[in-house]
Amino acid sequence: MATGKIGVTTENIFPVIKKFLYSDHEIFLRELVSNAIDATQKLKTLASFGEFKGTLGEMNVKVTVDKEAGTLTISDHGIGMDAEDIDKYINQIAFSGAEEFLEKYKDTANSIIGHFGLGFYSAFMVSKKVEIRSLSYKEGAKAVEWVCDGSPEYEMKEIEKSERGTDVILYIDDDNKEFLEQARIDTLLKKYCRFLPVPVISGKVQEWKDGKYVDTDKDKVINATEPLWTKKPSELTDKDYLEFYHELMPGQEDPMFWIHLNVDYPFNLTGILYFPKVKSNIDLQRNRIQLYCNQVYVTDQVEGVVPEFMMLMQGVIDSPDIPLNVSRSYLQADQQVKKISSYISKKVAEKLDKMFKEDRAAFEQKWDDIEVFIKYGMLTDEKFYESAKKFFLLKDVNDKYYTLDEYRTLVEASQTDKEGNVIYLYATDKTAQYAYIQGAEEKGYNVLLMNGQLDNHLIGLLESKLEKTRFVRVDSDTPERLIKKEDEKKSDLTPLQADILTGIFRVELPTVEKANFIVEYTALSPNDAPATVTQNEMMRRMKDMAAMQPGMNFYGDMPDMYSVVVNTEQPAVKKILEDAEKSVASVVKPIREEIEKNNTEIQDLRKKLSEKDADKDGINKQISDLEEQVGKDREREESAIKEYANGVANVKQIIDLALLQSGLLKGEALSAFIKRSVSLL
Ligand code: ADP
Repeated sequence: MATGKIGVTTENIFPVIKKFLYSDHEIFLRELVSNAIDATQKLKTLASFGEFKGTLGEMNVKVTVDKEAGTLTISDHGIGMDAEDIDKYINQIAFSGAEEFLEKYKDTANSIIGHFGLGFYSAFMVSKKVEIRSLSYKEGAKAVEWVCDGSPEYEMKEIEKSERGTDVILYIDDDNKEFLEQARIDTLLKKYCRFLPVPVISGKVQEWKDGKYVDTDKDKVINATEPLWTKKPSELTDKDYLEFYHELMPGQEDPMFWIHLNVDYPFNLTGILYFPKVKSNIDLQRNRIQLYCNQVYVTDQVEGVVPEFMMLMQGVIDSPDIPLNVSRSYLQADQQVKKISSYISKKVAEKLDKMFKEDRAAFEQKWDDIEVFIKYGMLTDEKFYESAKKFFLLKDVNDKYYTLDEYRTLVEASQTDKEGNVIYLYATDKTAQYAYIQGAEEKGYNVLLMNGQLDNHLIGLLESKLEKTRFVRVDSDTPERLIKKEDEKKSDLTPLQADILTGIFRVELPTVEKANFIVEYTALSPNDAPATVTQNEMMRRMKDMAAMQPGMNFYGDMPDMYSVVVNTEQPAVKKILEDAEKSVASVVKPIREEIEKNNTEIQDLRKKLSEKDADKDGINKQISDLEEQVGKDREREESAIKEYANGVANVKQIIDLALLQSGLLKGEALSAFIKRSVSLL
């Protein structure tokens, strides 16, 4: 019997392992089963090269729980180890500065294990003693047993063992009794070993007998050794893909389509990505893509490995080239991983492009379900945007779809404003904005439907990418002014008329919580509505953006800004103005003349101020007296208009009609409107 000290530079590594790897205890099983699989695969390889001439026999890995003995055993029939191998691979851990390293990476157990070939030692996270009993495949090899109780001392001796391969026997410690439960072990094996390439056996298949489940003598195989992604796409049917999907993601609706990834240069990567149905409410379902390394489950936290927008997809990615055993931040900075990420992104774009080209009608039909992927991709991935330009679709309010180029061609002639900007009109709600859409369509414009969750962001992106393009919501102005083609037809109102008109309408402006209204006027056609409510595009967008971003409450808390745009050509409005001029104008006119006179005088006095030898104090006094007078006169003017306005018929009705059209007339105001309308009958 030999005894010795494990070659670790640190005095005692085990307490360190236990301490820092605490949270991830369960991964010991993945590590030990992976080792057993590796040993099995190595022997198969040697056999295929003729370097092992014996019979391979049954090549599987067995996990056995013995609750009474308090042991968990992982057995394989792989290459095994002789004393020399154990000394080399187990005793001499090429390891320096262990503690320092562990301190640095203590958050990620994964990073330490594997990275430093510590897989085997993770057994000590759950065991008070570990035994290895092994017989190497080499001719004439002597079976050995290695025992270690978690101190740096081990014992090694020759034993009798007739079967080739290795048993690793864990004497589970008191804190980890859970790993002696068959159910717990099965769960873990299902998680980590579900797709391992060698059959993994855990316990026996059970059957229902005499009112309870009992073991049969059939071994229970945990895994599918040839998962779908390892097969050639040409050998697979849609049914295969769907079955695999449901196995992977139980309880989900059928996915829309999938992409089978398969590369061997410049890196190795296989996998299947499914596009689930994501309805307009975009909930970022994370942890839906599982990462495997040679069929060993590694993680479902794939941030940084796959492009951000693919977090919406589901499926598996398997690559031996992803440095899986290092920390997340390392992963994200890794050049190889970046390449993988952009490769996947490219593949997804290619697939979508192909679908678009091969069957546009089918693609359009799927559009509402896939747009969120595509838009998300365009927003977060510059390269994806470049490829998506070709198949990205805009949808109009009549459910017609256009590529970006097609849409440009469609609207360029009719929707270019006087500054040469092409205006893309859009609605966010077909019902609420119905009248505005109709108004725009009557002018021969096309209106897009942009009601997706990401459309706000997308509009910003498209405006920055497409040349001379602006998006304008249909209700942000009257149809005539949505696209400013020539200098606006000046309204013929004199300043006095304008003041009277806006003054009259201002009195009846609604009070709506968190909304401010102002009065504007413009000369539209006599057949147009007497007034329209519009909402400034820029302000609305800022508020919309703020609503989506925490920390931008400043805009979010601001009231909505609406304009009541009065049509000065409409007969009812004309009448209001004419009547007003007859009565109130005679009161207001003299006040106005007085104001104008005083204002001119103020200006003259201001000029004098800069003259040499001016009596500054005297002049300033005069100015402030006059200003006070102007202020008073303005108040008089306003109250005269107000007093008059209170009695003017139809103003409230006109405003309410405009509010009604834009969906802003509600509750008490609405029922008052109805009563008033009835009384007018
Ligand atoms: P890693 O697997 O990352 O190299 P481990 O600590 O898990 O690190 O294992 C160290 C080495 O011990 C392995 O590379 C292998 O050579 C050997 N080994 C471990 N388990 C087995 C086994 N079941 N059969 C044969 N060799 C094994």
